[in-house]
Amino acid sequence: MNKCISGKKSYPTQEMAEEALIDAHIVYDYGRTSGPIAVYLCEDCGQYHLTSAGIMNEKLAQYRKDGTLEKLRRARQWEGKYRK
Ligand SMILES: [Zn+2]
Repeated sequence: MNKCISGKKSYPTQEMAEEALIDAHIVYDYGRTSGPIAVYLCEDCGQYHLTSAGIMNEKLAQYRKDGTLEKLRRARQWEGKYRK
């Protein structure tokens, strides 16, 4: 994986970037105003990065709206409890 001059983590596909974006929102409860909200194709490295600027990613917006994010978060918390 090529390192980008932006210093941000790079994802080869939009799907992988979206997955990482949603994953970040499962692990950290960002609330409404902080954290990455979208993915974009970088002109420097030709790969995808997460960004906190712009319009919220459709999949993330959908997951927040329909409760999927909350479900995934709860599932993740359970996993954490079992592991300990
Ligand atoms: Zn880049």
